[in-house]
Amino acid sequence: MSMMIGLETHVQLNSKSKLLCGCANPVSIKGKTNIEPNTLTCPTCLGMPGAKPRINQNIIESAIKAALALNCEIAGEIYFSRKTYFYPDMSKNFQTTQYEVPLAEKGMMELNVSGTKKKIRIRRLHIEEDPAKLIHKSSPTGGYTLVDYNRAGTPLIEIVTEPDFSTPEEARLYLQKIGQIFDYLGIYDFASEAALKSDGNLSINGGERVEVKNITGTKEIEKALNYEHIRQKNVVRGGGIITLESRQWNPQLGVTKTMRKKETEEDYGYTFEPDLTKIEIKKSLIEKLKKQLPELPDQRQKRFIKEYGMHEKEAEKLTSEKAISDIFEKTAKKIGAKIAAGWISGPLKKTLNYNDTTYAGSRLKDEWIISLLSSFAKKDYTDHVTEQIIRKMVELKTDDKSAAKLLGLGKIEDKGKIKDIVKKVIEANEVAVNDYKGGNEKSLHFLVGQVMRETKGQIDANTAKKEILSELK
Ligand code: ZN
Ligand code: MN
Repeated sequence: MSMMIGLETHVQLNSKSKLLCGCANPVSIKGKTNIEPNTLTCPTCLGMPGAKPRINQNIIESAIKAALALNCEIAGEIYFSRKTYFYPDMSKNFQTTQYEVPLAEKGMMELNVSGTKKKIRIRRLHIEEDPAKLIHKSSPTGGYTLVDYNRAGTPLIEIVTEPDFSTPEEARLYLQKIGQIFDYLGIYDFASEAALKSDGNLSINGGERVEVKNITGTKEIEKALNYEHIRQKNVVRGGGIITLESRQWNPQLGVTKTMRKKETEEDYGYTFEPDLTKIEIKKSLIEKLKKQLPELPDQRQKRFIKEYGMHEKEAEKLTSEKAISDIFEKTAKKIGAKIAAGWISGPLKKTLNYNDTTYAGSRLKDEWIISLLSSFAKKDYTDHVTEQIIRKMVELKTDDKSAAKLLGLGKIEDKGKIKDIVKKVIEANEVAVNDYKGGNEKSLHFLVGQVMRETKGQIDANTAKKEILSELK
């Protein structure tokens, strides 16, 4: 069965202020937790009558950079529209967005789908404001809803693709790459999965498309679309017909549910926004921003392969996040690329994934990682000790020295201490010692294991073996 998927994605930008007023954008506030609701507001973002919006020029420039990174054609002139609807999350009763003429269109992104390159066409990219946040509370009398206007008026970039994905996996890879590119551009908080929200349109065998709404993050998209694919297949197998509709993804239950028959764009009244003037996008501005574009993930990946002679897979891991590619290069300068790449693309990244965080989100300082891996490179720490320390560092957001101290791990400076441990192990394992003397190599491995356990992995297998053999002489 053939499958067609298209995505509409909203990316939260991390600009200092909101799109249409000078209020702080909560997304850009460090720490971000415990911001008192409805404190980052003004008459404009509260939608009070007569309040005049003003476009934040920085956001236009960020969006142009995003459009350039996605190989889009950029409009010469843009204006904003009002998307009219009535809902408590939008007290103006309209959302300021771009409808008739998007900032950019006809873009392209190249995906790497298990080694094969695939092109995804971008239909359009535009700027719009986010509505307020609704917080639904249940109560014995039936529940109520709170509104937090801190988010009202914060900037979003909406990106719409052509229906070019043939699997839910491709949709995930695309979203990961969107996050990655925006991270490299420095206009998005990579540490927050909530900053990326998508609606997915899925159809099978040329049938009607079903829209799955409000899917948060990159992992959920694959789950939601996989579920929807199976659901549609089952409907068709049972002799049913797929109808045009919107469905809601429920991440807790892992199912999609009917919301409403799909609304069309005509259901919203779009009108020109008279409070904002038309904005000319000068060629010279586009050229200037093009020059300011940083090295993007694909370029950096290619450079890593060439410069450090690494495999594509490793380069891919090391460029998945800008912060991780930066710490890799910093560490490589100190201790060489091979050791740095191995540890950062391996145990460090695995530990971050396990803790469901990113390098930027982990708040580890670069100097901690450099110090730890330098200790490893100097052979002060064994593999085992280094790995334990990484885990502790990520878990407690602490430096390498404190993590080592907490674990009681490090370098055994006292040679006599190692000898004592070896003697103890030999005395306690007479049978194995005699077995080894009788020619059984396996018993030596056993003794090595015992010594390593007693030293908590602070000496490596080779040292342990050497010490045992010299003791047994
Ligand atoms: Zn405001
Ligand atoms: Mn939108």
